[in-house]
Amino acid sequence: MTARTLDGTALARTVRGEVAERVAALALRGVRPGLAVILVGDDPASAVYVRNKVKACEDSGLHSVQERYAASMTEADLLSRIAALNADPLIHGILVQMPLPRHLDAHRVIEAIAPAKDVDGFSVHSAGQLMAGLPGLRPATPLGCMKMLESTGVSLRGQHAVVIGRSNTVGKPMALLLLQAHATVTVCHSGTPDLAAHTRSADIVVAAVGRRGMLTAAMVKPGAIVIDVGINRDEAGKLCGDVDFAGVAEVAGWISPVPGGVGPMTIAMLLSNTLQAAELAAAATHQAP
Ligand code: NAP
Repeated sequence: MTARTLDGTALARTVRGEVAERVAALALRGVRPGLAVILVGDDPASAVYVRNKVKACEDSGLHSVQERYAASMTEADLLSRIAALNADPLIHGILVQMPLPRHLDAHRVIEAIAPAKDVDGFSVHSAGQLMAGLPGLRPATPLGCMKMLESTGVSLRGQHAVVIGRSNTVGKPMALLLLQAHATVTVCHSGTPDLAAHTRSADIVVAAVGRRGMLTAAMVKPGAIVIDVGINRDEAGKLCGDVDFAGVAEVAGWISPVPGGVGPMTIAMLLSNTLQAAELAAAATHQAP
């Protein structure tokens, strides 16, 4: 292996330490950042994600509330829970774990969250702020990828970044954050002919597809930074990413592993977003006449 590992677990620990310090500072002003996580249905993977988020909050001194509802919950009931949390001064961030049961309209549900509490950054308001280059809450996963890139010490200005995947939650915001950092960005997707021609010319590759081993060594430029967002399972049921780690690590300059890469960073950035929302709410209260 020639590539250096982008250790998401270690970097997340650092970010969470910084969050904990700022949480303590905010506590002196009588504010404790609060995150509400809503889980509808009994998807086991979602339950694990929610548990990890709630535990991370507790570990960093944030207040957290977990609300679990049956898959049969009506949209009206879910919207009314969100309205109550929007009005709750102890809650600064609201996260509805996706995917939702099919009868619930995810777009309507996300749009019901008050913009100031949209710590997932998935709403049209937050996406618009990112698009326009205005301050706001950014989706945690691409934000975590940016932190990982920052940790390499490599300037992104003028670098060619290829993002594989164009979802609203990962691929598109990732591309916009890279653009904001002055990278030259190419976004690839399932309709891209000759993906390898793009990735081979990339200084940075972010793979966010959900297909095990789809990025191979032959597709990577020597010395490139490779960030693996994918979460997949191999034949043995073991967690793995979109990148053929063993092969690509022989070619790349930097590579993030799965597990222990983007996953922990996503949780750390969610805490950071909740803290940011609480700090802004505290500042607004302070300024109010
Ligand atoms: P998604 O909504 O399914 O999007 C996948 C994207 O990959 C789509 O844009 C799709 O293109 C593209 N794609 C599919 N096949 C392709 C191919 N052969 N070549 C090039 N592009 C292809 O998934 P997502 O929500 O963005 O998540 C992507 C992966 O990241 C998943 O494995 C997910 O579990 C993981 N994830 C991890 C974290 C974390 O914290 N680590 C967080 C979020 C997501 P089209 O648009 O053309 O269909």
